[in-house]
Amino acid sequence: MSKFLVDKFNSLTPYVPGEQPKERKYVKLNTNESPFPPSKKAVEYACREAQKVMRYSDPDVTDLVKALAKTYDVLPQNVIVTNGSDEVLNFAFMAYCNAQTPALFADITYGFYKVFASVNGIPYKEIPLKEDFTLDINDYLDKRGTIFIANPNAPTGIALSIDEIETLIKANPDRVVVVDEAYVDFGTESAVKLIKKYDNVLVTQTFSKSRSMAGARLGFGIGSKAIIDDLNRIRYSTNPYNVNRMSEYAGVGALEDAEYFENNCRTIIANREWTVGELKKLGFTTTDSKANFIFARCEHIDGKELYLKLKERGILVRHFNKAPIKDYNRITIGSMEEMQAYIDTVKTILEK
Ligand code: PMP
Repeated sequence: MSKFLVDKFNSLTPYVPGEQPKERKYVKLNTNESPFPPSKKAVEYACREAQKVMRYSDPDVTDLVKALAKTYDVLPQNVIVTNGSDEVLNFAFMAYCNAQTPALFADITYGFYKVFASVNGIPYKEIPLKEDFTLDINDYLDKRGTIFIANPNAPTGIALSIDEIETLIKANPDRVVVVDEAYVDFGTESAVKLIKKYDNVLVTQTFSKSRSMAGARLGFGIGSKAIIDDLNRIRYSTNPYNVNRMSEYAGVGALEDAEYFENNCRTIIANREWTVGELKKLGFTTTDSKANFIFARCEHIDGKELYLKLKERGILVRHFNKAPIKDYNRITIGSMEEMQAYIDTVKTILEK
């Protein structure tokens, strides 16, 4: 840290992304990426746009906004596109939280929420999940603040039903409920349809997981026109060219290739169910994950030890060194070959 850094950032603890190792080739099951390449159409459109990068991208991201509106059956005025969904989430913290309206989120959830609150100087309250890692919406009904819910949650993969989400939105008409649907395409009902009924909901999604485009940094938010206008005020006051032209059109291509996307989601779900079955046979306990990852612990081996032994053998999963979840590993669902390699390696480790 330099002596020039202003005080408010002195005590900031930045977000720690999952490892992206370069020294060795791993079976990489640690950052919830897709094992499948992006759609061919996405690549074709991105290459075409690469020829035009001497020009700025479209600050209104018009073509992708239109394509998203069509895909999700909303109007273009209900959509904002951002540099990853992290950016739209940050905008929501900036737009809807302050000292009187703190951020409310679960104690075990996406680790970035805390950092978005801190970097913006926003107070936050972490609401404990139940012992089985499920979330009781009643814990959110009598509190004052802007609610952030990852649905399904990370790193547990546990989802709330659409009725529970609607109850939460209905019970809080005077504050915004942000539903972070980064993993929604792997088996959870989306809250997008609720934006037609309620003006206090913002749904965020991403191209990083189900659409195989983590490296393109493309996310989006869907909400009432007024909410999208708020977020665009912030976008235009920070970085109007937040989405580069290659990523915008890769996004358009990916949306045109619906069949490829749907097939990949189906494969991930099938691989997830297969892996859960195999882990259960080996004495693991898993949460009921509806995401592209599994959250699992084994009675016979400590979470950190298993993570380290897998890493030694070329398999990378995620371990969080934090009290109630330190016995667990979070394993991204990869291709069948990758999941087979993971299970075989776990077996070898347990046999020793
Ligand atoms: N929400 C959740 C719950 C996540 O796990 C992630 C990925 N780390 C994100 C949002 C952000 O993803 P991206 O910025 O790649 O869209």
